[in-house]
Amino acid sequence: MVLAQLGGSITRALQQMSNATVIDEEVLNDCLIEISRALLQSDVQFNLVQDMQTNINNIVNLEDLAAGHDKSKIIEEAVFNELCKMLDPGKSSFVPEKGKTSVVMFVGLQGSGKTTTCTKYAHYYQKKGWKPALVCADTFRAGAFDQLMQNATNAEIPFYGSYMESDPVKIAVEGVERFTEENRDLIIVDTSGRHKQEAALFEEMRQVFEATKPDLVIFVIDSSIGQAAFDQAQAFKQSVAVGAVTITKMDGHVKGGGSLSAVAATKSPVIFIGTGEHMDEFEVFEVKPFVSRLLG
Ligand code: GDP
Repeated sequence: MVLAQLGGSITRALQQMSNATVIDEEVLNDCLIEISRALLQSDVQFNLVQDMQTNINNIVNLEDLAAGHDKSKIIEEAVFNELCKMLDPGKSSFVPEKGKTSVVMFVGLQGSGKTTTCTKYAHYYQKKGWKPALVCADTFRAGAFDQLMQNATNAEIPFYGSYMESDPVKIAVEGVERFTEENRDLIIVDTSGRHKQEAALFEEMRQVFEATKPDLVIFVIDSSIGQAAFDQAQAFKQSVAVGAVTITKMDGHVKGGGSLSAVAATKSPVIFIGTGEHMDEFEVFEVKPFVSRLLG
């Protein structure tokens, strides 16, 4: 079930509930079953769905609600709040400060959209008058430097990388040093990905992290990842101090719900979403407006 359908299914379940002549336990249960089914079909992790159901049942105590209470409104609010909670780790991420050098490292699997997202992120801040710079510490994928160079050139953002050097740590350190000297206020380090989670990738990530001491690590996840999202995100979090998440390809006709579990797995907020291949197809992510939009 794609995200737009998910929103429609939840809204329909709520409508059906509020149309009932009497809202009793059975009606509430049917409604929650429908919502849970829709979430599971969208690849939201089972535990999260179960927690949501339990929490709503705890919050909405129909017996205790005196007559005259708008039960359907209370249930709708509880569902809205629980969906927001699912996407809100309860803490914000590091926020870079304009004019002060910050280092932001991007991590994620190959193909997740990491390199594209690095440029989008740089471009987003550049439009606001910042002085970003890009460092290509991906020496694993042939063509990674060319891709970053092309993106950076299109966006008119300074970049650093090497065709010759094979040590990503060395490149990352040199790039960060150079751009720090040049007083760039947002130094973005793109790291290697792999097709799957493997020890070598995590070791390399750890080394780049140790050497550059980034202020923020952003984990990039493809929205089409499905149920594997939770484990993948958790594996990255266990290797480096992930502080924020960016979900890519939210424009595609994908289920998308799996990637939302990355919040629970990393205990970090989603800060941006990618909505297309173009540099400007990049949005700040805010939980409440997202859930409102989802539910139409
Ligand atoms: P990396 O291997 O993780 O660095 O991934 P890339 O940045 O090379 O992206 C892989 C593919 O996904 C490229 O074709 C990108 O254009 C595409 N891509 C990245 N972000 C988005 C997005 O938000 N929407 C769409 N539709 N495509 C994206």
